[in-house]
Amino acid sequence: MVKEILYGIVPSVILFLLFLNVNVGPFLVFAAVLVGIYFLLSRQSGTGLGTGGRRKRSQHVVPKSNVQFADIGGQERAKRELMEALDFLIRKDQIAHYGIRPIKGVLLTGPPGTGKTLMAKAAANYTNSAFVAASGSQFVEMYVGVGAQRVRELFREVKQLAEKNGQDSGIIFIDEIDVIGGKRDGQQQREYDQTLNQLLTEMDGIVAEEKPRILLIAATNRKDMLDPALLRPGRFDRHIVVDLPDKQAREQILRIHTANKPLADEVELEKIAQETFGFSGAQLESVVNEAAIYAMREQAQRIEKRHFAMAVDKVMMGEQTDREASDEEKRRVAIHELGHAIVSEFIRPGSVSQVTLTPRGQALGYVRQNPLEDRYLYTKEALEEQIMVCLGGAVAEEIYYGGRSTGSKNDFEQALAMAHEIVQSGMSRLGIVHLSYIAKSQVHEEVNRIIEELLDRTRRLLRQFDSVFTGSLQILLEQEVLSGDVFRRLLEQAEPAAELIG
Ligand code: ATP
Repeated sequence: MVKEILYGIVPSVILFLLFLNVNVGPFLVFAAVLVGIYFLLSRQSGTGLGTGGRRKRSQHVVPKSNVQFADIGGQERAKRELMEALDFLIRKDQIAHYGIRPIKGVLLTGPPGTGKTLMAKAAANYTNSAFVAASGSQFVEMYVGVGAQRVRELFREVKQLAEKNGQDSGIIFIDEIDVIGGKRDGQQQREYDQTLNQLLTEMDGIVAEEKPRILLIAATNRKDMLDPALLRPGRFDRHIVVDLPDKQAREQILRIHTANKPLADEVELEKIAQETFGFSGAQLESVVNEAAIYAMREQAQRIEKRHFAMAVDKVMMGEQTDREASDEEKRRVAIHELGHAIVSEFIRPGSVSQVTLTPRGQALGYVRQNPLEDRYLYTKEALEEQIMVCLGGAVAEEIYYGGRSTGSKNDFEQALAMAHEIVQSGMSRLGIVHLSYIAKSQVHEEVNRIIEELLDRTRRLLRQFDSVFTGSLQILLEQEVLSGDVFRRLLEQAEPAAELIG
């Protein structure tokens, strides 16, 4: 209202002064300075002076969502643990009867995109609570005291919202809590300390009889960074791991996100789930979305298998780039990728899903492997085989070009990391060792020995497949893709000596 009156009065006064021939320049400069100060203050404090000190619309109240626990694929254990914790909000009488101290904070830990925010939203619906959310980075300001003030606002907002909606509990979700909840080692800025202290104070102020009852849910993927004061009993003392989904969970997530999309009958979600080992829920959602976009671009009636294949490639490797390699470079890349593919297929038949020669992200070509099962434990043999797959590219270049190229840098990094793993896990000739008790050169020598031996085995293996290289190379150079099935047929015709990889 005040604003509207000012909008009317100010131009009229200026016009009147101009009419009287008064120089309005100084007035305008003065007004500009006032407006500048006003905006600075309102940004700093989140209040608007022009509105008579009235608080601005909340930044943290999120639009009401209908997310239920059933809309979250997988994460069964995490959902169960969270629901158990939430029952403390619902079964108030029993809690009071047993004199149980209320749970104040639940910490969700896990990699990005695994559904932590979804869990918090589902928690609010499950308990019929008011829900406000903020991210740790929103508390970071250059002005001292603002972070602490925002924490106070957050608690005030959730209470106001609960009262407005007639709910008797409220959930505050703080994403990236590590930004404000990092260890206080005296080196950090005072601002961070004040924000964290305020959060601790507000948490300590939560009492069982309070209405509305407040529960904090925080998320981080750096639990080790958090200040012990946050994690002690009575604060965030429920820790729930929200991990990357396993195959079954990936299928469920795909099913949830494809529910509203027209899928061709040939699409097997189980197969896509198998091919997407290591993907987070957010990445799977992106695969489904990208597949739908590919289908729409082609005006296809339904989303087909190949749309999903392109979408998986895009999410895994990045967008296709326009980098146009020379013919000679393309041939080299093709030889390199075929080297990887032949070793992979020889070691684990059925594992190559596609060899591609289109540049994507940083890669000029790539082999899409089809993990036959999720794996969390590796034997020495499995690691050695995986190292051979990595070395296959460089070895193929050596065989056909007499030397390596920079294209193998990444492969070597992976191979060395796995050879290191063999040493660290006590599976090398050094036996069980602690890396800090032996000389670096010893480790280096052993890692080298492992790599050299596997390079040799890979060379002996690949030399047997000259005909596969020739046959596949032609198709790859012409069509830029070679499907796993065609590749396998070429490989079957070659039949090398079986003792090669032993
Ligand atoms: P961050 O740590 O980066 O904030 P997050 O763990 O909070 O990530 P969400 O924001 O909950 O992840 O998930 C992002 C999106 O990914 C969701 O909106 C949803 O579409 C999808 N998603 C993630 N996990 C799942 C899941 N388990 N089931 C269904 N969809 C999921």
